[in-house]
Amino acid sequence: MKGRCLTEGEISDRLRKADLRPTVQRVSVCRFVLCEADHPTAEAVKKWTDAHGLKLSLATVYNTLGALVKAGLLRELRMPHSDSVVYDDNMAHHHHFLDERTGRIEDLPADAVEVRPRLGGKFKVRDVSVLVRGERA
Ligand SMILES: [Zn+2]
Repeated sequence: MKGRCLTEGEISDRLRKADLRPTVQRVSVCRFVLCEADHPTAEAVKKWTDAHGLKLSLATVYNTLGALVKAGLLRELRMPHSDSVVYDDNMAHHHHFLDERTGRIEDLPADAVEVRPRLGGKFKVRDVSVLVRGERA
């Protein structure tokens, strides 16, 4: 569970600002992804919507998540421990910690890891994101 949960009205506003119509499925997927979940997979989103009485097909869940990604409310991440894409609503620059025991992914603040690529003039670096792996103490 993350900080304060958004109200349905606040979620609808965020969708409208992103030029998305606040449909029932988008609002409920957002409620989970923006308020409760931490880097969920599409399967986890479906499980949650099923449990909350909204029977969405996995295809609809993927379409809804895809629309949210396209609108810039979420981004897709691929992690080496799993074939599934996870969805991240933290759009600020940050790194990740993968707990290899539990599979849990946590955000690390951008300044928690310092990497200075020394690549000569060959590459224009736009972004460096780091996955720190280990076990949470
Ligand atoms: Zn993240």
